[in-house]
Amino acid sequence: MTLAIGVDVGGTKVAAGVVDEDGRILAKLKRSTPAASPSRTEQAIADAVTELLARHQVAAIGLGAAGFVDSARATMLFAPNLAWRDEPLKQRVEERLGHQVVVENDANASAWAEARFGAARGYRDVVLVALGTGIGAAILVGGELYRGRWGMAGEPGHVRVVPDGRLCGCGNRGCWEQYCSGNALVAEAREFARRTPEGAIRLLQLGGGGPESISGPVITQAATEGDPAALRCFQTIGGWLGQGLADLAAILDPACFVIGGGVSEAGDLLLDPARAAFERALTGRGYRPLAEIKVAELGQDAGIVGAADLARAASRAAAPPATASRRRAPQSSAGRGRAPRTRAGQDEAAQARADPGGA
Ligand SMILES: [Zn+2]
Repeated sequence: MTLAIGVDVGGTKVAAGVVDEDGRILAKLKRSTPAASPSRTEQAIADAVTELLARHQVAAIGLGAAGFVDSARATMLFAPNLAWRDEPLKQRVEERLGHQVVVENDANASAWAEARFGAARGYRDVVLVALGTGIGAAILVGGELYRGRWGMAGEPGHVRVVPDGRLCGCGNRGCWEQYCSGNALVAEAREFARRTPEGAIRLLQLGGGGPESISGPVITQAATEGDPAALRCFQTIGGWLGQGLADLAAILDPACFVIGGGVSEAGDLLLDPARAAFERALTGRGYRPLAEIKVAELGQDAGIVGAADLARAASRAAAPPATASRRRAPQSSAGRGRAPRTRAGQDEAAQARADPGGA
């Protein structure tokens, strides 16, 4: 059993874990991220890895970080929530650690983990959409991550869905993530509570204050109880989600969409309106199979598991060809045991199961 370390580097914390070949985390630890200082963040990463290395024999180390990673998987070009700008992250961490590391975008790492061990097991054409502060996304085509020429592919959060719409942190207007994200959900509920406080009684109760006290978990809680205002917020966000997925299907035609991030914890409260909007907006509807739309299964561990597994795959790719067949993922073993619930994806998952070597 070859072990690997995966590190999930976010704006507030560094989480590192030792991951086995079945995607299980054997040990895990967390550090807070000194986000304002690139060098201290790198030291926090190195410290966490060093602590795990003292107790485990590992073959590879992968970092999944929130930001734009270049196509060489070495430099963090830009990180919205960290101080990295053109930071040679791979080199800096390797200098501190004395071991090789692989740097990956965090959404890519999560998508890889979901395709290998989670909601998209057995699928080869997958789009992950993670709804958090904004939208994190990743694309798998034929079982491989699609990175684009410069490593920047998979940022549909900044596709313009409303001309001259809401201002986005990226400087443009009308970006998808301004209408469909954790922040958008909260903004929707707060705006409703300001406009119609008598309709938002439960939301305000659970928040414990004024409209500003309403958070994502509060909205999910209220919606779970059947509160109409909270349900309406999820319908709005779910509607934007489904329309955006239909646009992605027009470009990529995936078999499976995996929806992650905090908002996805609402499950079908979000996905039912999303599926309805998806089916309404899909080009050629009625004459094409419908992609699966599923909730991510690995939760907050996906980044650790994916970063570790990608680093393990990279180290095997560099190794002699005896292990070459293991490089491809998701492969048949990844689809075992669980048939996909419906429709279109079935073909692809079944095909993947019947084809152990990968395509
Ligand atoms: Zn934007």
